[in-house]
Amino acid sequence: MATPTVILKPKHAQPFFGRHPWVFAGAVDKVEGKPANGDEVILKASNGTFLARGLYNDNSKILVRNYGWVEDQPLDAAFFRAKIARAIGLRHDVLHLNTGPKAAYRVISSEADGLSGLTVDRYAEWLTVQFTSLALANRKEMFAEILRELLQPQGIYVRTEKGIGKLEGLELHDGLLWGVQPPTDLMIEENGLRFRVDLTEGQKTGYYLDQRDNRVAVAKMAAGKRVLDAFSYSGGFGLYCAKAGATSVECVDASESALKLAEANAVANGLSTLEFTQGDVFAYLAQLVADKKTFDILVLDPPKFARNRAALPDAIRGYKRLHQLAMKLLAPDGILVTCCCTGLIVMDELIEIIGQSAVESKRDLQILERRGPAADHPVSANCLEGSYLKCILSRVG
Ligand code: SAH
Repeated sequence: MATPTVILKPKHAQPFFGRHPWVFAGAVDKVEGKPANGDEVILKASNGTFLARGLYNDNSKILVRNYGWVEDQPLDAAFFRAKIARAIGLRHDVLHLNTGPKAAYRVISSEADGLSGLTVDRYAEWLTVQFTSLALANRKEMFAEILRELLQPQGIYVRTEKGIGKLEGLELHDGLLWGVQPPTDLMIEENGLRFRVDLTEGQKTGYYLDQRDNRVAVAKMAAGKRVLDAFSYSGGFGLYCAKAGATSVECVDASESALKLAEANAVANGLSTLEFTQGDVFAYLAQLVADKKTFDILVLDPPKFARNRAALPDAIRGYKRLHQLAMKLLAPDGILVTCCCTGLIVMDELIEIIGQSAVESKRDLQILERRGPAADHPVSANCLEGSYLKCILSRVG
């Protein structure tokens, strides 16, 4: 049977010559054949030129996700296996993240690895898999088999992102996809530090792997310093600083379970200079200002503040507020670490917010480093929308 064809409206083909993975319904003129949701389709320009091979889902705003750019190469198991092997090649052969049985890294990063809708993380001997595409979720057994063959994990666990079921028309629940259930006290190792990762209950897929190199960058400056790790989750930045010889480290987070993990992590690493405070960072920083407390290093790593343009003004106000407080809490020549995972706020806008807050507080601010996520979270040139995390290190005089 012929593969169904999706034909674009005139003048809508340009992004796909640029190999963009997302075809929105509004760009489509007609569908020839009757693809079921999840089926393979061929994408053509209005003049009939072949553009891509993709997977169809009319429940989603993304009607077709493109994966293949060769007309006679179907999107079968061999095709996906080759893509996954290439993604693993980056992490193992280029980045050398496969450092042993307790290693943790992002194995597949969705669009960034040409696999729109599939995110896989490795945590020691377990893998977590997140599907944000119905078509790939339909193929979950195939992916489990490929991942087993290429990575030999003990188990593969499915994590679902809130709201994604509705966006894709997808019935998916957290749970074991294959193998042995992950232990609740699973430990990973990152740059010689041990972290407990709860794959079944933890945030994101259990740990923020994207901040690995940023934690190293901050730790380099931490010896002999008083550190405040705001939005600490399981203590990533704080533990690195404590290990690097910070005199004190205070971790603040709203989540009790996050702080429990952070405390367990401090114990597991034999680090005793950490303190943990549960509370709202905005209110707590204001309290510290009122108490005239100061710090030498302040890490701000809030969650995503805006998921869409409508939420952007509030998000910007949030970042401004945090920085106004930060300027009051930093000791002379203190180091400010600003992280922002809101993709809609780009690097230059973030720098403007930070700079403005410094000017308003009459403090001189030098930008020392503009950083992004670690390289196992790459960005594809074909889909720059995948760029999200910024981390700016600055010195506040
Ligand atoms: N810095 C962490 C990751 C932070 S994720 C690391 O390196 O691993 C963001 C954290 O912010 C989450 O743990 C969440 O519980 C916390 N959070 C969100 N809103 C908050 C608020 N208003 N006050 C305090 N913590 C908050």
